[in-house]
Amino acid sequence: MVIKIDSPTIPITEIEQSAFCQTDDNLKSKSLEDEFGAGVRWQKLPISYMRTSPDDLEKNIREARAALGSKVVILGHHYQRDEVIQFADMRGDSFKLSQFAAEQNEAEFIIFCGVHFMAETADILSTSEQKVILPNLTAGCSMADMAQTDDVLDCWDDLTDIMGSNQIVPITYMNSTADIKSLCGENDGIVCTSSNAAATFEWAYAKGEKVLFLPDQHLGRNTGLKMGIKLDEMIVWNPFKPLGGNSEKEIEESKLILWQGHCSVHTRFTVEQIAQARTAHPDVHVVVHPECTNEVVTAADSNGSTEYIKKLISEAPAGTSWAVGTEISLVNRIAAENPDKTVFCLDTVVCPCSTMYRIHPAYVSWVLDGLLEGQVVNQITVDDKTRKFSRIALERMLSVV
Ligand code: SF4
Repeated sequence: MVIKIDSPTIPITEIEQSAFCQTDDNLKSKSLEDEFGAGVRWQKLPISYMRTSPDDLEKNIREARAALGSKVVILGHHYQRDEVIQFADMRGDSFKLSQFAAEQNEAEFIIFCGVHFMAETADILSTSEQKVILPNLTAGCSMADMAQTDDVLDCWDDLTDIMGSNQIVPITYMNSTADIKSLCGENDGIVCTSSNAAATFEWAYAKGEKVLFLPDQHLGRNTGLKMGIKLDEMIVWNPFKPLGGNSEKEIEESKLILWQGHCSVHTRFTVEQIAQARTAHPDVHVVVHPECTNEVVTAADSNGSTEYIKKLISEAPAGTSWAVGTEISLVNRIAAENPDKTVFCLDTVVCPCSTMYRIHPAYVSWVLDGLLEGQVVNQITVDDKTRKFSRIALERMLSVV
């Protein structure tokens, strides 16, 4: 019997996202055993770590960190919870952290407090002697999950059958698997981040007539519009339909082909939330991440990467008000670092990125203790062929700013 699936499969991490959305949570870490109550997938670890209080975990991490010294470097993405980011030797968005991973070659172990695609990228850009560790292997990214290798290969075959491979340049957002980055590297394409997306579009259109942009349709559309590409020159590729749901003619006439992926955190922001923020705070400046929909980006006063948002607010005059459309852990931190300004999240529901949130301090403590005992827990490795071509695409990204 053939089972027909009519509706697209939603990555499990996206389904789980709502389990982390609360109306009255201050996001302070609880013991991991208590957090397991959220009813989502977490990686199993020894029970003793689950029952250790957040205060004791903090003490354990400090001691293990001191004992390991310069053998270990901890990288922390801006969306990590406070109890984890406090241990980061380097904080940043995925672009800044990948630059750091490429530049530093002293530490034997890189503990990446972020999500899976970031740890893969660090493995690709670091030396062969360095080992990259992701504290919790269930810390993935629902957007990256939306571009499965086989689906993207099918899409690439269809597009190159219709147009030939030298007309179309693949660009993948950093938030994609190493396989997708490799496909871009092997086919004269590039990786981008939200910091350099426009520069990579310029780079790509100097080489070919069309761009296939993976996997975030919103960042692709927002960047395309910024570059002067019109909406009717863009098509969306739905991996669950033949030819992505487009005719050959539509594909031939398009300039920008957007993979039908999105971020489950940034697509929560709405134009109505912006209107409410303006009503409550008439002088408010609204800044959002370009993973938000184009309606939200258009209604906002400005948009940019997490590094851009952080810098914009920290350099603003005292007394200014900011409504921010990005992940709540970062918004709360910006608010705490700018006590002379009013900074709040556009979404009144407290909704951290469900996968970033899986890096609980218990996991950080567990992997550090493993290193003290001579065991590498949760190492992320990328195979040689994938590494070769994804590194090419990443090095192009690092050279295009
Ligand atoms: S915020 Fe969105 S894109 Fe970033 S890791 Fe979470 S789900 Fe993925």
